[in-house]
Parts: sequence; structure tokens; C-alpha cells
Amino acid sequence: MKPYESALTRLECPECGRGFDPDRAQTVCEGCLSPLLARYDLKNLAAWFQPGTPAARPRGLWRWAELLPVRKAENRLTLGEGDTPLLPAARLGKKLGLSQLFIKDESPNPTGSFKARGLAVAVARAIELKQREFVIPTAGNAGGALAAYAARGRAKAHVYMPMDAPQANQQEVRMAGADLQLVDGLISDAARLAGQQAKHKRWFDMSTFKEPYRVEGKKTMGLELAEAFDWRLPDVIVYPTGGGTGLVGMWKAFEELEALGWLDGRRPRLVSVQAEGCAPVVRAFQQGAARAEPWQEARTLAAGLRVPSTFADRLILRALRESRGTALAVKDEEILSAKQDMAQLEGILPAPEGAATLAALPHLLTEGWLERDEKIVLFNTGSGLKYL
Ligand SMILES: *Cc1c(COP(=O)(O)O)cnc(C)c1O
Ligand SMILES: [Zn+2]
Repeated sequence: MKPYESALTRLECPECGRGFDPDRAQTVCEGCLSPLLARYDLKNLAAWFQPGTPAARPRGLWRWAELLPVRKAENRLTLGEGDTPLLPAARLGKKLGLSQLFIKDESPNPTGSFKARGLAVAVARAIELKQREFVIPTAGNAGGALAAYAARGRAKAHVYMPMDAPQANQQEVRMAGADLQLVDGLISDAARLAGQQAKHKRWFDMSTFKEPYRVEGKKTMGLELAEAFDWRLPDVIVYPTGGGTGLVGMWKAFEELEALGWLDGRRPRLVSVQAEGCAPVVRAFQQGAARAEPWQEARTLAAGLRVPSTFADRLILRALRESRGTALAVKDEEILSAKQDMAQLEGILPAPEGAATLAALPHLLTEGWLERDEKIVLFNTGSGLKYL
């Protein structure tokens, strides 16, 4: 294994353990209706890949190339994604009575959200595997990111988006030359249409967890966080959950770093935050269920959280429980006031989804779930500018 060479060895179904050839375009395990996860030769990698290796490279998520699926350097698409700031939030912390509060701010990513990480990797790998025409159902940001990386990779993108998705998302898709299909309904309705077209027209389906590599891109948030904290992870990560790629990706990152022997101490407790008007993961977590039932009549101003059901429900719920984490829902009014607080006290104008993580803190404190001196990281997953 040489530097920058992907250590990818196989794809695996986390439910039945079956292996799949990673060097062919793959979708899901049809038997289990489960996402596939990428596995790497961490044992051999650990012999020479050290924390200083990615640290010495140029900024961006491809400095983790060994732990990502793209094999050839020339296939690594980039618009400058990753290596976002980890900002201390001392004023917000003081207001809440928390002594070590941080915000991982994903808004500087290309296309203004962390969706860039997932789609940079997924589009690059799909093109490497000879796919040239993609389709995605999206609440908004994933469509914008797919359109941008498809343009960058000279591929074609079809985007299915609810007609009431943010204007910025609709326009960024059109401007990038992608085919935008507005759907009268939710992301679940868009997914049904996109899935039919994918089959019919043989477009490659980039839906959340219907291909194995978006989650690999999202994983880099966990790698960066571990590195920024000098390989001693924070106590708690608070994350807004739609399809769950971020949570599952970070949990996978920590598992791989542990296998490499880089982590010092235990993994963080994961907190999944959803909106009261659409909280399928929260409901399933509270019921002790292994699967999340679809949410009826999903309604919230946080477009990225308006996801009635996710294909990775088992993986999300497992990660929350393994981490001794929790899940909770917040009101739209709480999201709005948290948005203002984050902007006023820290200078970060968050996406509503990012603001939801801040809105969750008073609840967690009231429940006695957080200690005031714990190291806590909120994820602002996107820029508030897209929602003005
Ligand atoms: C998509 C999206 C989410 C939800 O992300 P998952 O990792 O898929 O759960 C959160 N915030 C923003 C801004 C998003 O665009
Ligand atoms: Zn399976």
C-alpha cells in the first residue's frame, strides 16, 4: 500500500455480513434491504499510516484518501470541501452554563452545506466506476451538491425535489445545468419517482444510503473532529438527523480510528436531534425499537429534517445506543430562536438544522443528561444564507 492509495477491500452488508465487490457499481443488499458499508485493510494501513500523515497534506477531505474509496488520484473531484472550522462557542456556553461548548461549522463547504462532503466522494467514485448519469431525491442541499459535483465531473444529474424546497436549492441545481424535477410532496415522494426513473432509465441512484459512498464522505467530519481534539474525542456530539449519513458516518470514522489505534479514550455519546413535526428516529429510539416507522404528515421549517423515513434506521439507532447517546425533538419556534442566538452571540448564521442542535441543549440540561463541564460539539450542517 502506497501513500494516497485507497485501502478499500470490500463492501459489506451490516445485517447479513455478505461481501460485495467494491470495484463494481453497487447499490444495497437486496436480501436485507440494507445499506452496504465500505471496509478497509486497516491492519496493513496501521503499519505506516500515522496521525501525522494526513496532517502534513494539503487541506481538504482527500488528505484522508487511504480511508476513502476512490482509487485514482485523477478521479478525486474537489471544490474545496472539508477541513471546516471547529469554533469554541464561549458566549453561548456561558449563557447555557456550559464550560466547553464547540461548533463544528460546516457552512464554509462548497454549496453551503456538509452535503458537499458526501457527494464529492460518491460522485467521484461512481464516475471512477463508469457511471455518468445520476439521479437523487432531495430535501434541497443534496440536490445542490450533486448538481455541482456532476458539473465538475462532466456527468449528468437529475434532481427530484419537493416544490416547496428552499429557492436557493432550486436555483443552484438549475444553474449547474442539472435537470430539476419539482415534486408535489415530500422527499419520500421524490424518492419514489426518482427510484422509478433510476430503474427505467438506468440512471445511477445517489439516494441517501442507496449507494455505499456518500457516507464515506460524511465520515471525514468524524476524522477531522478526532484530529482537532488531538485524538481524544469530545464527550458529546449533537447532530441534526435527516437521513442519518452524518451520524452513521462519524460513528464509522471512530470505529476505524480505533482499529488504527489512534484514539485515546472512549467514543462520544451521540445525540440525534429532529423536529417535533418529523421525528421518526426520536420516536423509535424512545420506544426501544430497532427500526423507525415512517412519519405521517411531516412538517418543519428545517427542510433537511423533513425526512419521514430513512433507509439507514437500523444503523442510526444502533449507533445512538452503542454510544449511550439519546434522541430528542425540538419545536420550530425553538429552532428560530436558536438560530438568532447563534448568529448574535457567535457570529455564525446557521441553517435551521444546525440551529436545532443548539435548541436541544436546554432540554438535555433540564433532563440532567449533560454535565456542565463536558466537552460538547454542535454541528452546524449548513449556511443560513441559503434560507434567507
Ligand atoms: C441533509 C441535511 C441534514 C441531515 O443530514 P443527514 O446526515 O443525512 O441526517 C442536516 N442539515 C442540513 C443543512 C442538511 O442539508
Ligand atoms: Zn444483507
